[in-house]
Amino acid sequence: MRYLILSDIHGNRQALESVLDDAIGRYDRVLCLGDVVGYGADPNSVTDWVREGSAHTVRGNHDRACTGDPILETFSENATIAALWTQTELNDGNREYLAGLPSGPLAVNGFWLVHGSPRDEDEYILNKNDAAHQYPFVQGDLTFFGHTHVQVGFGMRQGRVWTMPPPELDETEAVYQIEPDSVYLVNPGSIGQPRDSDPRAGYAIFDPERKLIAFRRAHYDVPGAQRAIMDAGLPRFLADRLGFGR
Ligand code: ZN
Repeated sequence: MRYLILSDIHGNRQALESVLDDAIGRYDRVLCLGDVVGYGADPNSVTDWVREGSAHTVRGNHDRACTGDPILETFSENATIAALWTQTELNDGNREYLAGLPSGPLAVNGFWLVHGSPRDEDEYILNKNDAAHQYPFVQGDLTFFGHTHVQVGFGMRQGRVWTMPPPELDETEAVYQIEPDSVYLVNPGSIGQPRDSDPRAGYAIFDPERKLIAFRRAHYDVPGAQRAIMDAGLPRFLADRLGFGR
Protein backbone atom coordinates (compact mmCIF):
# COMPACT_ATOMS: atom_id res chain seq x y z
CA MET A 1 0.00 0.00 0.00
CA ARG A 2 1.62 3.25 -1.15
CA TYR A 3 0.21 6.55 0.11
CA LEU A 4 -0.13 9.84 -1.70
CA ILE A 5 0.17 12.49 1.02
CA LEU A 6 -1.41 15.85 0.24
CA SER A 7 -1.51 19.00 2.36
CA ASP A 8 -2.59 22.62 2.13
CA ILE A 9 -4.39 22.37 -1.21
CA HIS A 10 -6.11 25.69 -0.41
CA GLY A 11 -8.68 25.58 -3.17
CA ASN A 12 -6.05 25.50 -5.93
CA ARG A 13 -7.67 23.24 -8.54
CA GLN A 14 -4.91 23.71 -11.12
CA ALA A 15 -2.23 22.57 -8.68
CA LEU A 16 -4.25 19.59 -7.44
CA GLU A 17 -4.93 18.38 -10.98
CA SER A 18 -1.24 18.53 -11.92
CA VAL A 19 -0.23 16.64 -8.79
CA LEU A 20 -2.77 13.90 -9.47
CA ASP A 21 -1.43 13.59 -13.04
CA ASP A 22 2.16 13.53 -11.82
CA ALA A 23 1.38 10.91 -9.17
CA ILE A 24 -0.44 8.47 -11.46
CA GLY A 25 0.82 4.92 -10.88
CA ARG A 26 2.82 5.89 -7.78
CA TYR A 27 0.16 5.39 -5.07
CA ASP A 28 -2.76 3.26 -3.93
CA ARG A 29 -4.44 5.51 -1.35
CA VAL A 30 -4.70 9.25 -0.65
CA LEU A 31 -4.29 10.99 2.72
CA CYS A 32 -4.81 14.71 3.33
CA LEU A 33 -3.41 16.90 6.12
CA GLY A 34 -5.96 19.71 5.97
CA ASP A 35 -6.39 23.24 4.64
CA VAL A 36 -8.42 21.91 1.74
CA VAL A 37 -9.78 25.43 1.19
CA GLY A 38 -8.92 29.08 1.85
CA TYR A 39 -6.81 31.40 -0.42
CA GLY A 40 -7.66 29.64 -3.72
CA ALA A 41 -10.51 30.22 -6.14
CA ASP A 42 -11.97 26.71 -6.43
CA PRO A 43 -13.04 25.61 -2.94
CA ASN A 44 -15.97 23.50 -4.12
CA SER A 45 -14.27 21.49 -6.85
CA VAL A 46 -11.27 20.80 -4.60
CA THR A 47 -13.49 19.78 -1.68
CA ASP A 48 -15.57 17.58 -4.01
CA TRP A 49 -12.39 15.78 -5.00
CA VAL A 50 -11.09 15.36 -1.43
CA ARG A 51 -14.45 13.96 -0.29
CA GLU A 52 -14.27 11.31 -2.99
CA GLY A 53 -10.56 10.75 -3.26
CA SER A 54 -9.02 11.00 0.21
CA ALA A 55 -9.26 8.00 2.53
CA HIS A 56 -8.40 10.04 5.65
CA THR A 57 -8.32 13.81 6.09
CA VAL A 58 -7.62 15.94 9.16
CA ARG A 59 -8.89 19.49 9.44
CA GLY A 60 -6.75 22.58 8.96
CA ASN A 61 -7.13 26.02 10.51
CA HIS A 62 -8.45 27.37 7.19
CA ASP A 63 -11.05 24.60 6.93
CA ARG A 64 -12.27 25.77 10.34
CA ALA A 65 -12.16 29.49 9.51
CA CYS A 66 -14.05 28.89 6.27
CA THR A 67 -16.84 27.07 8.11
CA GLY A 68 -17.52 29.52 10.92
CA ASP A 69 -14.92 28.69 13.59
CA PRO A 70 -13.83 31.78 15.59
CA ILE A 71 -10.18 31.00 14.76
CA LEU A 72 -10.92 33.36 11.84
CA GLU A 73 -10.38 36.25 14.29
CA THR A 74 -6.67 35.38 14.45
CA PHE A 75 -6.17 35.51 10.65
CA SER A 76 -4.25 38.11 8.64
CA GLU A 77 -6.22 40.56 6.50
CA ASN A 78 -5.70 38.68 3.23
CA ALA A 79 -6.48 35.32 4.81
CA THR A 80 -9.63 36.78 6.38
CA ILE A 81 -10.86 38.19 3.07
CA ALA A 82 -10.27 34.81 1.42
CA ALA A 83 -11.96 32.89 4.26
CA LEU A 84 -15.06 35.11 4.20
CA TRP A 85 -15.26 34.75 0.40
CA THR A 86 -14.88 30.95 0.75
CA GLN A 87 -17.66 30.87 3.36
CA THR A 88 -20.08 32.35 0.82
CA GLU A 89 -18.84 30.09 -2.01
CA LEU A 90 -18.98 26.70 -0.30
CA ASN A 91 -22.12 24.72 -0.95
CA ASP A 92 -23.95 23.20 2.02
CA GLY A 93 -22.59 19.68 1.51
CA ASN A 94 -18.98 20.82 1.32
CA ARG A 95 -19.36 23.19 4.28
CA GLU A 96 -20.76 20.35 6.35
CA TYR A 97 -17.99 18.00 5.27
CA LEU A 98 -15.20 20.46 6.12
CA ALA A 99 -16.78 21.44 9.44
CA GLY A 100 -16.95 17.77 10.38
CA LEU A 101 -13.34 16.86 9.65
CA PRO A 102 -11.49 15.43 12.66
CA SER A 103 -8.59 17.19 14.33
CA GLY A 104 -5.39 15.19 14.49
CA PRO A 105 -3.46 13.26 15.52
CA LEU A 106 -5.18 10.64 13.41
CA ALA A 107 -3.72 7.11 13.27
CA VAL A 108 -3.42 5.39 9.88
CA ASN A 109 -1.84 1.93 9.72
CA GLY A 110 0.88 2.63 12.26
CA PHE A 111 1.67 6.23 11.39
CA TRP A 112 -0.02 9.54 12.20
CA LEU A 113 -1.54 12.56 10.51
CA VAL A 114 -1.70 16.07 12.00
CA HIS A 115 -2.21 19.52 10.50
CA GLY A 116 0.18 21.58 12.66
CA SER A 117 2.05 19.43 15.17
CA PRO A 118 1.49 16.37 17.37
CA ARG A 119 1.06 18.72 20.34
CA ASP A 120 -1.28 21.30 18.78
CA GLU A 121 -3.09 21.35 15.43
CA ASP A 122 -2.34 25.08 15.05
CA GLU A 123 1.37 24.95 15.91
CA TYR A 124 4.07 25.49 13.25
CA ILE A 125 7.06 23.15 12.98
CA LEU A 126 9.56 25.26 11.07
CA ASN A 127 13.00 23.97 12.00
CA LYS A 128 14.99 21.27 13.79
CA ASN A 129 14.50 22.97 17.14
CA ASP A 130 10.71 23.00 16.74
CA ALA A 131 10.85 19.33 15.72
CA ALA A 132 12.92 18.38 18.77
CA HIS A 133 10.34 20.03 21.05
CA GLN A 134 7.65 17.73 19.63
CA TYR A 135 9.52 14.60 20.68
CA PRO A 136 7.59 14.07 23.96
CA PHE A 137 4.25 14.43 22.15
CA VAL A 138 4.93 12.19 19.15
CA GLN A 139 3.10 8.86 18.91
CA GLY A 140 4.75 6.10 16.91
CA ASP A 141 7.76 6.54 14.62
CA LEU A 142 6.27 8.59 11.82
CA THR A 143 3.98 11.63 11.75
CA PHE A 144 3.03 13.60 8.67
CA PHE A 145 2.29 17.28 9.25
CA GLY A 146 1.43 20.34 7.15
CA HIS A 147 0.52 23.95 7.99
CA THR A 148 3.91 25.57 7.19
CA HIS A 149 3.68 25.04 3.41
CA VAL A 150 7.34 24.03 3.46
CA GLN A 151 8.36 20.60 2.15
CA VAL A 152 10.81 19.09 4.63
CA GLY A 153 11.36 16.15 6.95
CA PHE A 154 12.98 15.90 10.38
CA GLY A 155 14.50 12.67 11.64
CA MET A 156 15.40 12.16 15.29
CA ARG A 157 17.49 9.50 17.02
CA GLN A 158 19.21 9.56 20.40
CA GLY A 159 19.01 13.31 20.76
CA ARG A 160 20.24 13.98 17.22
CA VAL A 161 17.94 15.77 14.76
CA TRP A 162 18.54 15.90 11.01
CA THR A 163 16.79 17.51 8.07
CA MET A 164 15.44 15.88 4.92
CA PRO A 165 15.39 18.69 2.34
CA PRO A 166 13.06 18.93 -0.68
CA PRO A 167 14.30 18.35 -4.23
CA GLU A 168 16.44 21.08 -5.79
CA LEU A 169 14.72 23.47 -8.21
CA ASP A 170 16.02 21.48 -11.21
CA GLU A 171 14.96 18.12 -9.78
CA THR A 172 11.52 16.60 -9.36
CA GLU A 173 12.15 14.15 -6.55
CA ALA A 174 14.11 13.61 -3.33
CA VAL A 175 13.84 10.12 -1.81
CA TYR A 176 14.62 9.17 1.81
CA GLN A 177 14.95 5.83 3.52
CA ILE A 178 13.20 5.48 6.88
CA GLU A 179 15.79 4.21 9.37
CA PRO A 180 14.97 1.92 12.31
CA ASP A 181 14.92 3.26 15.89
CA SER A 182 14.24 6.77 14.63
CA VAL A 183 11.31 9.16 14.87
CA TYR A 184 10.21 11.20 11.87
CA LEU A 185 8.16 14.35 11.36
CA VAL A 186 7.51 14.81 7.65
CA ASN A 187 5.82 17.66 5.79
CA PRO A 188 4.84 16.77 2.20
CA GLY A 189 4.76 20.47 1.26
CA SER A 190 1.81 22.48 0.02
CA ILE A 191 -0.16 21.68 -3.10
CA GLY A 192 -1.87 25.03 -3.47
CA GLN A 193 0.41 27.68 -1.97
CA PRO A 194 4.06 26.60 -1.54
CA ARG A 195 6.17 28.93 0.64
CA ASP A 196 9.62 27.40 0.23
CA SER A 197 10.68 29.49 -2.77
CA ASP A 198 9.72 26.73 -5.22
CA PRO A 199 6.42 27.60 -6.92
CA ARG A 200 5.83 24.01 -8.01
CA ALA A 201 3.15 22.05 -6.12
CA GLY A 202 4.67 19.86 -3.39
CA TYR A 203 3.55 16.42 -2.28
CA ALA A 204 4.92 13.14 -0.91
CA ILE A 205 4.64 9.43 -1.60
CA PHE A 206 5.10 7.06 1.35
CA ASP A 207 5.84 3.39 0.70
CA PRO A 208 5.73 1.58 4.08
CA GLU A 209 6.89 -1.77 2.65
CA ARG A 210 10.07 -0.33 1.16
CA LYS A 211 10.30 2.28 3.96
CA LEU A 212 10.71 5.09 1.47
CA ILE A 213 9.43 8.65 1.48
CA ALA A 214 9.63 10.59 -1.78
CA PHE A 215 9.20 14.37 -1.86
CA ARG A 216 8.01 15.39 -5.31
CA ARG A 217 7.34 18.72 -7.05
CA ALA A 218 5.00 19.18 -9.98
CA HIS A 219 4.70 22.13 -12.35
CA TYR A 220 1.17 23.40 -12.74
CA ASP A 221 -0.77 26.17 -14.46
CA VAL A 222 0.22 28.98 -12.10
CA PRO A 223 -1.13 31.73 -14.42
CA GLY A 224 -4.47 29.92 -14.55
CA ALA A 225 -4.70 29.72 -10.77
CA GLN A 226 -3.66 33.40 -10.50
CA ARG A 227 -6.30 34.45 -13.04
CA ALA A 228 -8.98 32.54 -11.14
CA ILE A 229 -8.01 34.33 -7.89
CA MET A 230 -8.21 37.73 -9.61
CA ASP A 231 -11.51 36.85 -11.34
CA ALA A 232 -12.96 35.90 -7.96
CA GLY A 233 -12.08 39.38 -6.65
CA LEU A 234 -9.63 38.02 -4.10
CA PRO A 235 -6.54 40.05 -3.06
CA ARG A 236 -3.82 40.35 -5.74
CA PHE A 237 -1.22 39.35 -3.14
CA LEU A 238 -2.72 35.84 -3.06
CA ALA A 239 -2.25 35.53 -6.82
CA ASP A 240 1.22 37.09 -6.90
CA ARG A 241 2.69 34.86 -4.21
CA LEU A 242 1.93 31.71 -6.23
CA GLY A 243 4.44 32.95 -8.81
CA PHE A 244 7.20 33.21 -6.24
CA GLY A 245 6.34 30.19 -4.12
CA ARG A 246 6.49 32.42 -1.03
ZN1 ZN B 1 -2.33 26.10 5.01
